[in-house]
Amino acid sequence: MDKTFSFSLNATDGKARTGVISTPRGEIRTPAFMPVGTAATVKAMLPENVRATGADILLGNTYHLMLRPTAERIDRLGGLHDFMNWERPILTDSGGFQVMSLTALRKITEQGVRFKSHIDGSVHELSPERSMEIQRLLGSDIVMCFDECPALPADRDRIAESMRMSMRWAQRSRDAFGDRPGHALFGIQQGGLEEDLRGESAEALRGIGFDGYAIGGLAVGEGQKAMFETLDYAPDMLPTDKPRYLMGVGKPDDIVGAVKRGVDMMDCVLPSRSGRTGQVFTRRGVLNIKNARHQDDPRPIDEHCNCPACANYSRAYLHHVFRAQEIISSMLLTWHNLHYYQEIMQGMRDAIAAGRFAAWEADFHAERAAGDIEPV
Ligand SMILES: [Zn+2]
Repeated sequence: MDKTFSFSLNATDGKARTGVISTPRGEIRTPAFMPVGTAATVKAMLPENVRATGADILLGNTYHLMLRPTAERIDRLGGLHDFMNWERPILTDSGGFQVMSLTALRKITEQGVRFKSHIDGSVHELSPERSMEIQRLLGSDIVMCFDECPALPADRDRIAESMRMSMRWAQRSRDAFGDRPGHALFGIQQGGLEEDLRGESAEALRGIGFDGYAIGGLAVGEGQKAMFETLDYAPDMLPTDKPRYLMGVGKPDDIVGAVKRGVDMMDCVLPSRSGRTGQVFTRRGVLNIKNARHQDDPRPIDEHCNCPACANYSRAYLHHVFRAQEIISSMLLTWHNLHYYQEIMQGMRDAIAAGRFAAWEADFHAERAAGDIEPV
C-alpha cells in the first residue's frame, strides 16, 4: 500500500469539490463526514457498524483520551487503531477547543494552557509540543495543530490577538511534528467573522506549509447565516490542492452549504448524540421519536432508507424502546443518523462528479421542505 499521504481532486462543480485523500490506512472519499469517537468509541456503535454506514475515517478527541485512559497507556497497548478496533484512518483534534469549552479553571499563556480535568480536578498542561506528542502516541493519521478558539461573539481585538497566537502555535506545532511519512499535519485558520483576519491567518499558514487546512472558529454560536457568509470567502483563501476541513459542523443543511462553498471534510457529534436523545435526521427533516404520534405507527422512519433501524423496525417499536430507555434505542437511532449523514455525502460526491450539484441541492431542500409523513 502507498505509504504517503496525498490528496487528489477528481471533479469540481461550482465551488463544490470531490476527490480522494490517500493514507497508508486507506482512502477517504471527499467530501467526507467524520463520525466522532470521543473516548475511543462512537457511542452505541461497533466500529464495523460505523464502517458499514459508509464512514472512511473517524475523529478522536485528544482532550478526553489524554485524561482517560491517557495517551501513554494507549501507546503501550499498540496505539488507538488497535485499542478501539478501527484500522482505517483516524483524525485527532488538538485538545485546545475542548479545554476551552469543557474546563472551567484554565490559564492561557504564550506557552500553552494549564487546566483542571473535568473528570477528577487534576491539573494538566497542553502546549503545541505536548499536543503533537499526544497525537503521535495515539497514532493519529491526521494531526491537528494546537490552537486557541475564542467563543463568539468576541471583540475584534480579542479575535486578532488570539488568531496571531494560534499562528505562532501553528509554527511550533509544525516544528514539533517533524517529518513523519504517511502522517499529515493540518493547520487551522482562525479570525472569527473578520475577512481580513481570515486572510492574514491563511497567509501565515500557507507560509508554514501544511498537508491540509482546517477552518476553525466557526459553529461556535454565530448562527448559520454568519457561518455561510464567512464560508463564502474563507475556503478560497486556502490552497486548492490540499483538503479543507470545516471543524465541528454540523446539521445536514450546514454540511450541504459548506460543501457547496468548497469544504472537503467535516465532523460533528450531532448524528450520534442525537441518536441517544431520540432526535432523528431524515430526508424529510428532523423528527423526534419520543413524540406520541409515533406510538401506533407501523411504518419505518424512512421507507427509502436501508439501515437496520428502517429495514427491520417500526416507528412504534423505536418509540417504545426509547421510552423504555432500552440500549437498543441508542444503537438503532445512532446507526440511522450516521447512515443518513453518509448517504448525504455519497449523494453529494456523485452529484459533483456528474456536474449536477445544483440539482441535487434543490432536491435536498425540496424534500426537507415537504416535512415528515402524515401521522397514521
Ligand atoms: Zn434508516
